[in-house]
Amino acid sequence: MSNRTIFQFFHWYYSPEGNLWNHGRDEAGRLASLGVTDVWLPPAYKSAEGVDEPGYAVYDLYDLGEFDQKGTVRTRFGTKAEYLGCIAAFHEHHMNVLADIVLNHRMGGDEKEQVTVKNVNEENRTEMISDAHTIDAYTRFTFPGRKKKYSDFIWNWHCFTGTSENGSIAVILNEYGNGGWEDVLGKEFGNYDYLMGNDVEFRNPYVREELKRWGVWYVQTTGIDGFRLDAVKHINPGFFPEWLQYLKAHFQKDFFCIGEYWKSDVQMLLNYIDATGGMIRLFDVPLHFNFYDASTKGENYDLRTIFDNTLIKERPDLAISFVDNHDTQPLQSLQSTVDFWFKPLAYALILLREQGIPCVFYPAVYEARYAGPGGNEEAYIELNKVAALEKMMVVRKDLAYGMQRDFFDHPNTIGWTREGTDEKPGGGCAVLLSNGGEGSKNMLVGERHAGKTFVDCCGGRPEKITLNEKGEGTFFVNAGSAAVWVPG
Ligand code: CA
Repeated sequence: MSNRTIFQFFHWYYSPEGNLWNHGRDEAGRLASLGVTDVWLPPAYKSAEGVDEPGYAVYDLYDLGEFDQKGTVRTRFGTKAEYLGCIAAFHEHHMNVLADIVLNHRMGGDEKEQVTVKNVNEENRTEMISDAHTIDAYTRFTFPGRKKKYSDFIWNWHCFTGTSENGSIAVILNEYGNGGWEDVLGKEFGNYDYLMGNDVEFRNPYVREELKRWGVWYVQTTGIDGFRLDAVKHINPGFFPEWLQYLKAHFQKDFFCIGEYWKSDVQMLLNYIDATGGMIRLFDVPLHFNFYDASTKGENYDLRTIFDNTLIKERPDLAISFVDNHDTQPLQSLQSTVDFWFKPLAYALILLREQGIPCVFYPAVYEARYAGPGGNEEAYIELNKVAALEKMMVVRKDLAYGMQRDFFDHPNTIGWTREGTDEKPGGGCAVLLSNGGEGSKNMLVGERHAGKTFVDCCGGRPEKITLNEKGEGTFFVNAGSAAVWVPG
């Protein structure tokens, strides 16, 4: 079995003038050579904002860049034909494609209708701050540009739990919730069912049925292999297990599935895993925050604690580790970008260890440059390529296998080794990280490496280290750096 590596092939500010689908098609071979096994693509359906945002402001799930709606046929990333071509290219290189599934909310309704609501206290959404009253709200979605092709389902106020159409968050008095939010697990803001737009009412059986029909259509139309589920914290935890079971039964196969539960408290992630029967892997958000913390504290951070309170420690079998993503990048609402100097250390920690499946973020390989606050072209934001990353990805693909021995014995210098296996001849590596000064450490790689010479392929150390008869040697690392020693 080769190591699995996910690649997030986009970032929030990927240019709307560009064509991500064609770019992905052209890069498939390169990503495969870096050991990428799964590619996460952004939402492919028409946004309420046309090409002005990546697709999280969902308007029409059936419009993959095919119909003239919201001022454009193509989406921010290209047309439907280009999307399908991109997926085909990844499949030709034996990679899986993960679709970004955004079902929590809908935006950009086509027609107004009269909706009875109660306003809620935004800080505590379980507290009603008005009597029932009627508003005119854009909660009716008829998709006139699509003309009922693929589905004749019309969304209206019976399909939504809440809205902020009148300028403040209001719960809709439909027949499914009687003015109550759906139960979600957390208690942030009293109840965090509502995130944005018109909040989808999953208690409505017609909605669940329509979303299952759409899921089948989407898999059949695109040949997608798995899912990244958006905003699961805001969705009734009963819904996705039901949806996934339905697709599994229909297609007689399992779909690889990752949920985005944005919370740094690992206990909340474990609660969601319990509630969904372990069907849905989760991004290790607590680990991202440990990386962020470590990157801002420099040598005052104790590297031995880097995995404390993380999913990779508690449930390594269900943890998807990452350094940054489209929500944490500069200017985004959840901005918590890991400082650049620490990125090689963080990538070594997710790519070269046994636990978890890592997800690499686009700018770390392809760079990104975009306008600063308020669209200011002068004060642009630049995300640089992480120089050592591609080498680390190849070490993950070819060498980072077998027994892992940890040497987490100093607050500023930690290391580990991988012994290699019989199935991966030539495998094995030794990794040393420092968030302080230059460091060194004696580490055992394994007897099969006795007498072999190791060199650093990432951290700029010039030595050639010859291991002793036990397969052990003293390795070095530069200040604030990651050294990756491999058989030379
Ligand atoms: Ca919701």
